[in-house]
Order: sequence, then C-alpha cells, then structure tokens
Amino acid sequence: MTHSTRAHAKLSPSAAHRWFACPGSIRLSAGIVDKSSVYADEGTAAHMLAERCLTNNADADQYANDTITVRDGVEFTVDQEMGEAVQVFLDRVRHYESLGYEIQVEQRLDLGHLSPGQFGTGDAIAFKDGDLHLFEYKHGRGVAVDPKDNPQLLSYVSGAAKRYHNRRVEFVTCHVVQPRAPHKDGPVRMWATTPKVLAAFEQEFREAAGRTADPNAPLVAGDHCRFCPAAAICPALRDKSMEIARAEFDDPAEVAKLTPADVGEILHGLDLVEARCRRIREFAHQEANDGRTPEGWKLVYKRANRRWADEGKAAQALKLGFDLGDDEIFERKLVSPAKADSLVGKKAAAALKPLIDKTPSGTALAPVDDPRPAAKADASVEFGT
Ligand code: SF4
Repeated sequence: MTHSTRAHAKLSPSAAHRWFACPGSIRLSAGIVDKSSVYADEGTAAHMLAERCLTNNADADQYANDTITVRDGVEFTVDQEMGEAVQVFLDRVRHYESLGYEIQVEQRLDLGHLSPGQFGTGDAIAFKDGDLHLFEYKHGRGVAVDPKDNPQLLSYVSGAAKRYHNRRVEFVTCHVVQPRAPHKDGPVRMWATTPKVLAAFEQEFREAAGRTADPNAPLVAGDHCRFCPAAAICPALRDKSMEIARAEFDDPAEVAKLTPADVGEILHGLDLVEARCRRIREFAHQEANDGRTPEGWKLVYKRANRRWADEGKAAQALKLGFDLGDDEIFERKLVSPAKADSLVGKKAAAALKPLIDKTPSGTALAPVDDPRPAAKADASVEFGT
C-alpha cells in the first residue's frame, strides 16, 4: 500500500485519541466528508517521499525539486525543508537497518483482533530477535505528538506484533519522528514498553470500540475535539464553547477580577472555541460550494495577484512598445538565506550565520511547556522599538 492510497478505517487508529474519549463522535461524524487540508496533503507528500527513499535506498535530497502528486491536481515540490525533515525519519529507520533489523515500510496492519475489520498503516517497522520497533513520521508543525501511551502507535504496534507472533515479541518500542514541531525532547521521541502493557491496551481498545457502537454513546467535549469532523454540528462542543466564552466575559466587573491563573485556563479553552469556529466556517464554505449558500452570504474570489501571463512576451512589449531598457524592466535580487543554504550546502551554511539577521517580528503567547525560550514581557524592551 502506498501512502497516497491509504484507506481509512472507520475506527481509525489515527483518531483513536478522539473516539476513546468521545464514543459518540463516531456516530455524529458518520457521513461527514472530512476534506483533506493542504497541511494533510503536504504530510501525505512527505510520507510518499519517505516511502520512495526507503524503497529505493535513496536519501531525500536525491529527489530535490521533484514533484510528488498526492492525487489528481494536488502536487508538491520536494523543497529543502521537506527533504531535511524526511531525512531525519530515514536516518532513524536506517539506524535500525544497520543493526541488522528486518525493515518493512508502509505496511497495512490487520487490527481485526482489536475490532472486526479494523486496520492501520505503519510508516515503518523494524524487528530483530524479539525486539519490535514501530516508527511514525509526522510532518505537521502544529501539535507535537508524544509516543507514550499513544493509542494510534499502540494500535499499529499491536498489528505489527501480530505479524511476528510466531517469532515471539519480547520488547516493544514506539518512535515518533516529527522534525518540524518544537518539542522539549527533540525531533525524535521514543517510548519503550512491554507486551504486557500492549495486551492491556488491546483490551482498552476493544472496550472503547464497543462503546462507540452504543446508539446512545455520549458526546464528550475536550481537547480531542480540535480536528473532529463533526465539530461544526456537535451540540456538546457548542455547549462547551458557549460555557467557555460566557463564563468569564459576560460581566465586565467580573473580568477585572480574573487572576493570571484564570486567564491561563481560559486561553486553553479558547483552542476549543477556535476549533469550533474554524469547522463552522469550513462547513459553511463547503455548503456554498455544493450549491447551498448560507443566507446573507455569497461566494467570492480571493484576491488575485497580478503576474505576467507570459514573461517573454511582456518583456518584448515593454522594450519595443515603451522603449524601456533591460536595467529598467529587470531586477536583480540577492537570494534568501534559505536559498543560499541550499546553494552552498548544509555544512558550509554555518559560515553564513553571522550574516543573517533573525529578529522576531513580535511575541506570541504559548503554553508554558512550549520548548521555545521565554520572551521578555515588553516587546519594545526586547527589540528596541
Ligand atoms: S466535537 Fe468533540 S464532543 Fe463533539 S463529537 Fe467531536 S469529539 Fe465528540
């Protein structure tokens, strides 16, 4: 199976964190088409690159500037950032290959022992002498993923362990490779566990899957709602969002009494409110595209940037028709630091560092466990503005 043709199980392991916590989400999401986002498509392209490299025993830079077609009309160019991120994954998997592990790539894993008809797809698996490793590549830069007790990874590793059941699995390790999302433990995180923990998880999976089959399965709102396909129509998320939005800001006198702890709590809640708003906008846009335009709204074109339809013809017209010279119509510009890095190569690029100005454009609020260093409170002190 290739990444672009991956099928998605109804009780998808990649959404297990959601339906474990909210059994009713499977019922409420039924029939809702979860449209792929540009971020998801880019992640698929990166996975396809990784698969191509591992299958052909190549490094990612061998595919630099190649075009990867995710599906009809959706293409990505392998740029330096994608190549470097995928290379981290390749290096991790190849380390185990160099130690004599058997490697399998993009494997469809049967999870029927967890729930009938279920399956998942492991990015890479390594096995040697009872030691099983599962590697999951994450291209996203938004939410940093932890391998510990991660139901998606445990599901896959459970399917992988089944494959090797006649060779006895004694040790189990899950790896997450996510080079673009900052995390205090770095771009590669691993978690070693035991077949006993895996067996307990398998039972937990079966019970959670069973709860989703209940026609009255409850809707339970929480952080897991962020990417739920039903977020736009979910009454539980609506109530939770209203509660967050209303509880503290109805009364200006009450707002003045809020402590930093209260505001911190509210900020965490806002993620949910924003997720709901985003889903409602996406839903309404899709409705309009499908011919059911919301009342009082219309579809408009996004602002289009003007550019020459044919640069050669435009240059000719400017020169011949307007008597303009080359120095007037052409601009020479120094390449960006990123482009210069790729021109001189990764090692030599260190010499360019003193020439690069990297002043932040301002500050942003981040949770206290965000790995970036804390900024000073007053931006004008920090940046001398
Ligand atoms: S939005 Fe949240 S509460 Fe509603 S179905 Fe999805 S996961 Fe459950």
